[in-house]
Amino acid sequence: MRKEAARQVLQTLEENGYEAYFVGGCVRDWHLGRPIQDIDICTNAHPGDVMRLFPDHVPTGLKHGTVSVKRDGYLFEVTTYRTEGDYLDFRRPEHVTFVGELHLDLARRDFTMNAMAMDQHDRLEDPFHGRQDLADGVIRAVGDPSVRFREDALRILRAVRFSVQLGFQIEPETKAAIAETANLLAHIAIERVRDELNKLLHGSFLKIGMETMVETRLFQGIPLLHHLFGKPEPQIWRIGKVETLTQKWSLLFYMMNLSPIKAKELCFFLKMSKREIETIGRNVIVLDRLQPKWDTPAAMPWDRLLLEYGLTACEEIEGLLRACWWNHEERDTLSVLRKTYDALPVKTTKELAINGKQLQEALQKKQGDWIAHTLNHLLVQTALHGLPNTPERLLEEARNEVARYEKHQA
Ligand code: ATP
Ligand code: MG
Repeated sequence: MRKEAARQVLQTLEENGYEAYFVGGCVRDWHLGRPIQDIDICTNAHPGDVMRLFPDHVPTGLKHGTVSVKRDGYLFEVTTYRTEGDYLDFRRPEHVTFVGELHLDLARRDFTMNAMAMDQHDRLEDPFHGRQDLADGVIRAVGDPSVRFREDALRILRAVRFSVQLGFQIEPETKAAIAETANLLAHIAIERVRDELNKLLHGSFLKIGMETMVETRLFQGIPLLHHLFGKPEPQIWRIGKVETLTQKWSLLFYMMNLSPIKAKELCFFLKMSKREIETIGRNVIVLDRLQPKWDTPAAMPWDRLLLEYGLTACEEIEGLLRACWWNHEERDTLSVLRKTYDALPVKTTKELAINGKQLQEALQKKQGDWIAHTLNHLLVQTALHGLPNTPERLLEEARNEVARYEKHQA
């Protein structure tokens, strides 16, 4: 078991005269009975000592005092107690200072629930009363919230993200400090903002998050995001009804009435991956075309959509429609989609009895846009209009279509 392997790391450190604790997110999540992400360990041993005691290690972040220790196939980050140096530009500090006391290490952490440590016998070190705040469902900054947010503005967003993940309220002074310092978010690398937003969109309590974002004018310093999260949206809960991140962003853009062009602009701004931008771009275009109304299922042109975008893309879109129609009993779009797909006699241009090269040779023409256009036309004709999928009939239809296409282009 992973926790047992980690416990043995603590034990080895202790047997060698050092202090060692589980710390941060894992302690919080154990207390909440939530699945844990990674198990982090803190110790008063210096990185050199940690590397000496655990030959099987990776020096992942020596500058910040972190050595990743391998045990039973698991990797644990072991970090020396530290405080953080000067915070420049409201971002993470460049330098850290190693310290001898656990308390000082816990004091640099963001929220009381993240500032607890637990030893190998499950004894809790909780100088900021994080356990009580966990029990009360409260997110509270360690120390003066305004100072802490000015040190590192990402904490502002972490507070909102945790509240959406856990369904917790942000303690009033902490929330007031968020409103006061929110404009500093503009100084944070957009990738870090995006990663927090991605976690937030996966959270179960979006309504709470949305209320906080509106109340604190969270993105006042980032106009593109303010546009998206700056006004209350009663439909926001529907984002919890879709699974993938690309669906979540797509649904958000649709409910916020963003045009496909604006949506894509935002994806680029957030530096999403090429694949994400493509998928979201396509989803938003299709939603914009279909214009589904909340809880009002309508017949969808699945056959055409399937031929145009393929099955995987349509499954993604089907999930979006199901969320749009969530409160309605008749939203069994998946079986309609599958039936339509199975019923298509030809599903892609690859299944046609003729390919682009053969078309080119038969028609004695140079390469060009006409090939893709003609193949797609043949696909629609064979799949939906009964054109026989034989080389002769396809070629005949192709000749007519190319003539039409060229006349239209001229
Ligand atoms: P999760 O991994 O579920 O996103 P986490 O709390 O474990 O949540 P990490 O980013 O893994 O978050 O950070 C581990 C710990 O480091 C946190 O629990 C917190 O104690 C501390 N920490 C992380 N980011 C910050 C920050 N920006 N300011 C202060 N402390 C932080
Ligand atoms: Mg973590």
